[in-house]
Amino acid sequence: MTKTSNGTGDATRRSDNRRAAPDERPTANHESRHLKDFAARVIRWQRQLGRHDLPWQGTRDAYRIWVSEIMLQQTQVSAVIPYYVRFLARFPDVQSLAVASEDDVLAHWSGLGYYARGRNLHRAARLIVERHAGMFPLAFEAVCALPGVGRSTAAAICVFAFGQRRAILDGNVKRVLARHDGIAGYPGNRAVQDRLWSIAEARLPAREIDTYTQGLMDLGAGLCKRRHPDCGGCPLAQTCVARRDGLTGQLPAARPGKRLAQRETTVLVLLSAGEVLLEKRPASGIWGGLWSFPEVSEEQIDGATLSYGARADSFSRLSPVEHGFTHFKLRILPLVAHVARELRAEQPGRLWLPLDDALTAPLPAPIRRILGQLRTDRSAGEHAASQRDLT
Ligand code: SF4
Repeated sequence: MTKTSNGTGDATRRSDNRRAAPDERPTANHESRHLKDFAARVIRWQRQLGRHDLPWQGTRDAYRIWVSEIMLQQTQVSAVIPYYVRFLARFPDVQSLAVASEDDVLAHWSGLGYYARGRNLHRAARLIVERHAGMFPLAFEAVCALPGVGRSTAAAICVFAFGQRRAILDGNVKRVLARHDGIAGYPGNRAVQDRLWSIAEARLPAREIDTYTQGLMDLGAGLCKRRHPDCGGCPLAQTCVARRDGLTGQLPAARPGKRLAQRETTVLVLLSAGEVLLEKRPASGIWGGLWSFPEVSEEQIDGATLSYGARADSFSRLSPVEHGFTHFKLRILPLVAHVARELRAEQPGRLWLPLDDALTAPLPAPIRRILGQLRTDRSAGEHAASQRDLT
């Protein structure tokens, strides 16, 4: 990263985050003087070295900004960009999103994870059409009231779309402020969070709120990274407590240690003449509204295949798939039942689909991986069979 020319002095020019020698440590006056221009340093740095060509920048269209902010919750910019471009091509405005089916919306969300975000976006689009005549609300409180929009997300939308002077506090900004101000404690803790909000509010500049907000986001994502922050290139280095005291590895504090629970489930992959059975999951709960394989208990496999209108000729297993949720880890055991499909017609919420078509359905990422595994195994089997036919 090129160094800034923002005149922040020797401390800024160091290329590491080692503990500052005592004679380099800022005095109280020195700190308060520099804290005053906290926002100015962020703004200068953003203008020179921040990001300016993201697909959701250069617009005041609240809809496009809102979609980006929802996608960016818990997901990195590089992962979001292709989904954002595809989503906007299919749903270019709030009206097109409001009239779409949930399956269509989730199919365009499929792979991004945290599907409640996609469902909330869809619900919110319908609310905007019904209650706000299709116009994105301008009032901060009305933006906060939309499903899936919290205080920080609402603030980001109001800053970028309407130029309102609001503070954000997403994960990246929490990290920057906790380190810069030396705030101990887990940021998920209420008291710590309240302190960080006060700091975030107190630092807001009178002007260029959008450049400042983008600057904080860019700093958190590009310099003040979770591991190995690039303090040498940081415009806040001169007043940063974590850098001064060698605490970048300790701040912000990690979630108090509770090991994530491990769960296990078996999914039944009913396979018949190149088609698989998918089942729509209930609207609420994990993977709500997405299509998946039926979950079964290992003890009741035969009864389960019959209840899906199929009798299994044989079974085989695919490799287990691991998936992490916020509060637990899930190990998925795919059991393939090779069936002759005969007994019962399709029911609402269940579909037999050719493998390639199934892959285009709105699926959770691990279910997509299982289908990919199945397709690879079948292609390998067909290739081996064709080789045998040739001999
Ligand atoms: S804010 Fe982050 S990157 Fe900047 S000096 Fe402090 S720890 Fe380093």
